[in-house]
Amino acid sequence: MPTIFSRIVSGEIPADIVHQDELVTAFRDVSPAAPTHILIVPNQEISGVDALEDSQAQVAGRMILVARDLARQEGVAAGGYRLIINCGPDGGQEVMHLHMHLVGGRPLGPMLSRG
Ligand code: 5GP
Repeated sequence: MPTIFSRIVSGEIPADIVHQDELVTAFRDVSPAAPTHILIVPNQEISGVDALEDSQAQVAGRMILVARDLARQEGVAAGGYRLIINCGPDGGQEVMHLHMHLVGGRPLGPMLSRG
């Protein structure tokens, strides 16, 4: 079964896509946590960071560079933003298709609660 993000990448289900190239696709999160909340995903299905192989360094790097460009495009680069990749159950990963959250547009507070 393709992941929900694979189905967005292929165009099978709709999303607000803000960038697509031969390696990655970026689209707005359906349930935004901040004024800017974009997900950057590899087009190829990779379940998460722990499944990344050394040979996939190019796609991993592209995710960060696309996040940088989108942050500028969204007007949040000067104010600052956060890139988040959740990994596995303790990391809070819900969709098992590698994705980076780009969140910004308001002060985001401390990185983690200490509880
Ligand atoms: P995770 O918790 O796995 O790091 O984040 C998954 C993210 O995917 C959540 O922020 C959630 O709102 C988003 N999401 C889940 N399903 C969809 C969807 O069908 N479309 C879009 N655009 N975002 C989704």
